Amino acid sequence: MKKTLIAGNWKMYKTPTESINFVNQLIKNLKKFEDRDVLICVPFTSLWPVSQIIKDSPLKLGAQNVFFENEGAFTGEISPLMLKDIGVEYVICGHSERRNIFGETDEIINKKVKKVAEMGMKPILCVGEKLKEREEGETFEVVENQIRKCLDGFKSIENLVIAYEPVWAIGTGKTALPQQAEEVHIFIREIIAEIYNKEVSENLTILYGGSVKPENIDQLMKEKNIDGVLVGGACLKIDSFIRIINYRTNESSL
Ligand code: PEP
Repeated sequence: MKKTLIAGNWKMYKTPTESINFVNQLIKNLKKFEDRDVLICVPFTSLWPVSQIIKDSPLKLGAQNVFFENEGAFTGEISPLMLKDIGVEYVICGHSERRNIFGETDEIINKKVKKVAEMGMKPILCVGEKLKEREEGETFEVVENQIRKCLDGFKSIENLVIAYEPVWAIGTGKTALPQQAEEVHIFIREIIAEIYNKEVSENLTILYGGSVKPENIDQLMKEKNIDGVLVGGACLKIDSFIRIINYRTNESSL
C-alpha cells in the first residue's frame, strides 16, 4: 500500500543548534505509523547534524534545493553528491520561492530533477499557479506546462513525488479548498498517465502544499488523490507539526 508522506519544509529557519534541539524534541513526540512517512527538509547547514540524530528514528531527511552538477567551479552551490553522502533521501526541486525569487526556470528544474534521481534520491517537484493565473482560469494550463517541461526526458518516475502548491496559498494563510486541490491532483494524474502510463500515475505520490495547518489537515487528507502534504510555516513548531503528522481521516484513526 502506498504510504502517505507528511513533509516539512523549514525554509530558511533554524540554526544548526536550533535544529538539533527541535529534532530531538520531535523524535520524542513522534508515534510509530505503518501508513505514513515523515520527512523534514532542513537548511543545508543543518543537514549533517540532523542526519546524525535521526539515524535510528523513523524521520526521513530532505534538502530544499540542489545544483545539477556533482562538482566543479560553481561557487556557493551544493551538489547532489554532497547531499547523497550525508544521507539525504528527498530533494525539493522548483519550489515557487526558488522560481520567483531566484529565477529558476522549468529548464533548470528539469536538470535538477533528473540529476537528483540519477543519484538515487527522490525529487519532490513543486508546481502551481499564481493568483492571477487562477483568476484567469489558467490553472490547468500552467500546471500542465510546468509538469511537461520539468519532466522532459525524465525516466525514473518511480522515484518522483509531485507537490501541487498553488502560489497564492503559500505562506498567505489562504488554503486551497480540499476540492480545489483534489481536482488539480486528479488532473496531474491524468497528465502523468499520458506521459508515462496509468499504473505509474496511480502509484505517484502527489502532495498538497499551501498553508496546511492543524485546522485543515484532516479535511485535506480525506481527499482520495491527496497522498500527503508539504508544510511550511506550521512545521516549525513541534505542537502544530505533530498534530499535522497525527492527522485523522475518521474519528477512530488515532
Ligand atoms: C511551502 O513552503 O512549501 C509551503 C507550503 O509553505 P506554507 O505551508 O507556509 O504555506
